[in-house]
Amino acid sequence: MAIYLDNSATTPVRREVIDEMLPFLESDFGNPSSIHSHGMKAAAGVKLARQRVAELLNCSPSEVYFSPCGTYANNVAILGRARFVEANEGGRHLITTSIEHPSVIGPCQYLESKGWRVTYLPVDNEGIIDFERLKNAIADDTSIITVMWANNEIGSLQPIEEIAQVAVSRGIFFHTDAVQVPGKLPIDVSKHAISALSLSGHKFYAPKGIGILYLRQGENVMPTAFGGGQEMGILPGTESVPNIVAIGKAAELAGIEVIETERKLRLMQKILLEKLSPIEGLRITGPSDIDKRLPGHISVAISGAEGESLVMKCDLKGISVSSGSACHKGIIEPSSVLRALRLPDIEARGSLRISAGRFNTSEECEKAADLLAQIAVKSAKVSKETTIETAI
Ligand code: PLP
Repeated sequence: MAIYLDNSATTPVRREVIDEMLPFLESDFGNPSSIHSHGMKAAAGVKLARQRVAELLNCSPSEVYFSPCGTYANNVAILGRARFVEANEGGRHLITTSIEHPSVIGPCQYLESKGWRVTYLPVDNEGIIDFERLKNAIADDTSIITVMWANNEIGSLQPIEEIAQVAVSRGIFFHTDAVQVPGKLPIDVSKHAISALSLSGHKFYAPKGIGILYLRQGENVMPTAFGGGQEMGILPGTESVPNIVAIGKAAELAGIEVIETERKLRLMQKILLEKLSPIEGLRITGPSDIDKRLPGHISVAISGAEGESLVMKCDLKGISVSSGSACHKGIIEPSSVLRALRLPDIEARGSLRISAGRFNTSEECEKAADLLAQIAVKSAKVSKETTIETAI
């Protein structure tokens, strides 16, 4: 069986989560808007799930909205808030970073095309923004700040607490894409003055196709799609009850286990880091200090190698990982995140992400790290030879 080390891409659905959702696919299949007993059972399932998510985030259930996925939660937070700002003739300036997920960059670019001014903050060579620069970017017309909590490709953590504080002191709506965080680090929205936060079920052992938008009481967003008024009209559409029940159970487990999981992921992260960092021609991308990284997450760039071919080589050795560099029209292109780190192209093309999850073991990480080290040594050497040949 291959060793799965791609938990930042997606996670398996936990047995406890499947068991909890099954009745809602079979006997309790009602529409939660129906007033008969089938409908009431489904509505009770949704209510419990909302409570469980609220406990994970330490907020009120009325601040939790179910969305079709993390992508929709990000879009609704940004575009829905922008609609509200426009309706109230607020300032059309938004601040974000150059390393956001496409589901944040996309709506920001759309707003730019509609006349908004968007500041894309650069990051340092470890993928972290300069907080002073963010403060200096705030202008009288700034109405939205959206900065991701943890980067999916390079694992960097942003100073969310400080950003939230400055945003609240200036009366600015602050959204964070926290899709990579639940179950790995504690999230407490009562401590941080976050206005809105997005999550995605399949990153923490619930199925794909379910997300969460947390929206602080009193913060307004306007709908970006229209329908039957579910989820207070912000995310309308008949509720995906089994998936909602699933994300509720996954949230409950994530909250209970977070301290233990974080410790376990840190241990596996150290094993991978210690075995991979000494390799010649391999550079750790993102923060080298693991306390500034997402637990369990390692990303590397192998000079002269090609990301997709590295992924295939790993697959042949029985390890599932991913790359931030992909083949685009026959050319290996580093992702925008790797470009933002200003790595030389020869390194950025050979990127790999290794992300451990709560079901990996230290033994698996030891084995995978040894195999990855062999691949890295060979790939870096092959590319050196190729470079010399080309040069001659
Ligand atoms: N934001 C981040 C940081 C992600 O890693 C992902 C998924 O890869 C998303 C948003 C999108 O979530 P979903 O797959 O649920 O649409």
